[in-house]
Amino acid sequence: MKLKDAIMLGKSCGLASIPEAINNVLAHDLSLFEYEIMVSEERELRDEALKKGIQFCAKCGMALLNDECYMCRNFQSIFLGKK
Ligand SMILES: [Zn+2]
Repeated sequence: MKLKDAIMLGKSCGLASIPEAINNVLAHDLSLFEYEIMVSEERELRDEALKKGIQFCAKCGMALLNDECYMCRNFQSIFLGKK
């Protein structure tokens, strides 16, 4: 998926930032793509995002927002009781 398409989709979902728009696609990949093309669509999106300076979490693979992975932070907060 092209980064510009992910951003457009994110805006239509009310998301303000590019990392959130990317994570929106990554989190809903099974709903957005046929299974056979999912990996290549995500690779295209990640490669384009990396070229734009977006970084990804080494643990979960989601895009970092302000140098932090809110997906891992939320997981730790909700499931492990850590802040
Ligand atoms: Zn993470």
